[in-house]
Amino acid sequence: MENGVMMQYFEWNLPNDGKFWKKLKDDAEHLHKIGITAVWIPPAYKGLKQEDEGYGTYDLYDLGEFDQKGTVRTKYGNKQELQEMIEELHKNQISVYLDAVMNHKAGADYTEKFMAKEVDPEKREESISEPYEIEGWTGFDFPGRNNTYSDFKWHWYHFSGTDYNKANDKKGIYQIIGEGKAWSEGVDNENGNYDFLMFADIDFDHPEVVEEMKKWGIWVSNELNLDGMRLDAIKHINDQFIKHFLEAVRNNRGNDFYAVGEYWKNDIDSLNEYLSHVQYKVDLFDVPLHYNMYTASQQGRDYDLQNLLKDTLVTNHPDLAVTFVDNHDSQRGSSLESQIKDWFKPIAYGLILLMKNGYPCIFYGDYYGVKGKKSPHRLILDILLDARQKYAHGEQQDYFDHPNTVGFVRSGDEEHPGSGLALLLSNGDNGDKIMNVGKNRKGEIWHEITGDIKDEVTIDENGNGKFTVSGGKLSVWVKK
Ligand code: CA
Repeated sequence: MENGVMMQYFEWNLPNDGKFWKKLKDDAEHLHKIGITAVWIPPAYKGLKQEDEGYGTYDLYDLGEFDQKGTVRTKYGNKQELQEMIEELHKNQISVYLDAVMNHKAGADYTEKFMAKEVDPEKREESISEPYEIEGWTGFDFPGRNNTYSDFKWHWYHFSGTDYNKANDKKGIYQIIGEGKAWSEGVDNENGNYDFLMFADIDFDHPEVVEEMKKWGIWVSNELNLDGMRLDAIKHINDQFIKHFLEAVRNNRGNDFYAVGEYWKNDIDSLNEYLSHVQYKVDLFDVPLHYNMYTASQQGRDYDLQNLLKDTLVTNHPDLAVTFVDNHDSQRGSSLESQIKDWFKPIAYGLILLMKNGYPCIFYGDYYGVKGKKSPHRLILDILLDARQKYAHGEQQDYFDHPNTVGFVRSGDEEHPGSGLALLLSNGDNGDKIMNVGKNRKGEIWHEITGDIKDEVTIDENGNGKFTVSGGKLSVWVKK
């Protein structure tokens, strides 16, 4: 969709009140009005306890429907509310992407005894013990669901590793030993082999697992009428499984079934390599851009803004990059904390919402706030979202030619009369820049729409305008 905008509709600290699906349903019309075209919803299935955010996945087939783990609903609500919410979003022309947590399972129903060896957490291919029998939490039979939708039972041999031996009450990384068992190929090479992340790590080299997970992908996409998925923790999952999984789901749901993967690594080479391994069948979050913006927000005027888009995914693969500022993992207090400072957020959102390349994703915490505290950024986000729809059309001419003041021009196009814009970003002093908006626009009066600058700019006979920006801010200029 042209100029689509995704919203990550959750943050880490939402209350465990079971009212979130209802809240999102009630917000559908408003989201459509502000220009949101897709929503990424949190993991919607039963976790190891009710207050789990969904990443401690227990039963992928329990969407808040069965009495398991002491609760029918999840943190966010029950299955009926989930389905009603999705229906309402669809009525408002908003696509729905489910967060798919496939790397691991948590909260097993019982322990099993099997052979394993402890490995060095920093060198996962090196054993630090002889093989011995351990007692791990790997037995899942989902008694509360009683075979509804799937009669698959999980056992130790469906996993490649686990994090705890009940027999001696010892935590660690235990690689499970058995016929054909090894850490998976096609995963990130950090720590030697980054197959294992947490809990009981699913073995995507086991044929029964592959079939069951494909079956689930098709089931959940139909059951919830999904338009796509956000694939969690894919650097810990065999890349060929991801490719085959998406093929299976798309064969059933159509080739436009959307997918974006979370490959959390600040390294463009790893992202490029991953995309080639999955034959460019999935988008990825632009993690390097996030870290560039994080660094820029930390360093203030010492950061050279000409480097902001350097070695990013949106520069390397403009059509496969989901650009974002922050998310539930980077927000303060989370596992991958790297929250962009408040002063820089309007600049960061101005960049991703108004540039031609990338599929921007807005974080719930930045629009609505975290821990119930209102976000200071909602007003500027509303302005930028509106500007994206009205003005951010046509070709882009970059002016990344100064360490502290950079910008670009969007030319506008015929389908959107009056469109086109000039963006300036500053991380230093007040700045100005002569930018060319097109000879055909001579004599036009342009004004600044964030409300920061009152002066107007008259476009000269060559199509040039001298645009200004306040220190540490952004300015967005359009035809008056
Ligand atoms: Ca794994």
